[in-house]
Amino acid sequence: MSDPVIIVCPHCHAANRLPVARLAEHPTCGKCKQPLFTAAPLELDSTHFDQHLGRSGIPLLVDFWAPWCGPCRAMAPAFAEAARQLEPHFRLAKVNTEAEPHLAARFGIRSIPTLALFRNGHEIARQAGAMDTGSLVRWVNSRV
Ligand SMILES: [Zn+2]
Repeated sequence: MSDPVIIVCPHCHAANRLPVARLAEHPTCGKCKQPLFTAAPLELDSTHFDQHLGRSGIPLLVDFWAPWCGPCRAMAPAFAEAARQLEPHFRLAKVNTEAEPHLAARFGIRSIPTLALFRNGHEIARQAGAMDTGSLVRWVNSRV
């Protein structure tokens, strides 16, 4: 369990290499010294999306949403709770498709909310429609 894993900092987006065994020990970023896990989803825009997609050594679960979407807003607390439960084995992120239409187009997001699960830069699962925390956690764990 000493293989290193790359964790991308949710604050400064630096790639941190650390032993898997240290994941659960509340690791901090070597660059900005802030916690690498905050028990909350990370808001991602196109500036930093590819850094997380391409470098993250843990699966990345992205909630494609928009502020005008009622079901998206309703699911936000469930997604936040899922982040608390799934870290540090997953990174949860949110992409505002209204602010980031190019990201939505690039991944062919046709309805929101859409959850997409990425590992090693590749999408491995996708689910459209809102989910509660329990369903979300079960779905993610069933896909990796
Ligand atoms: Zn940092």
